[in-house]
Amino acid sequence: MSELNELYQQLILEHNKSPRNFKELEHFTNDADGYNPLCGDHYHIWLKLDGDIISDIGFKGSGCAISKSSASMMTAAVKGTTIANAKELFEKFHSVIMTKIGDEIPEEKIEELGSLGALAGVREFPARIKCASLAWHALIAALINPKQTVSTEQ
Ligand code: ZN
Repeated sequence: MSELNELYQQLILEHNKSPRNFKELEHFTNDADGYNPLCGDHYHIWLKLDGDIISDIGFKGSGCAISKSSASMMTAAVKGTTIANAKELFEKFHSVIMTKIGDEIPEEKIEELGSLGALAGVREFPARIKCASLAWHALIAALINPKQTVSTEQ
């Protein structure tokens, strides 16, 4: 298990160093702000929805390694997928990181999370759970927050 932990740690550090989709979207349909005052993590997230497909996603901001790598992994996982799939993945991720310390998490539950499984260990650090879930909460907020259309005609 310690070898696996080491692998996971490297994955988190790598995403923190080179976050995926770390960009502001020029053309977007939805966006939201995510802020975790307990740690100082602050990100903005942009989505481009085509029907119910998340065709593009980007985020910018700053925060701890856990929050940034989680945001990076989240964007990589949901880009190109449907809104329903993204919400389902969030539920799976959330149930893993909220598993009580001491309770066993079935290995297949972590495996089906892909890279996000690397964050399963945060459940042992309650303060870090907010860091790990921040980008997801911002994603959900963005999904229900369409961009305001500014019109010169009104
Ligand atoms: Zn944090």
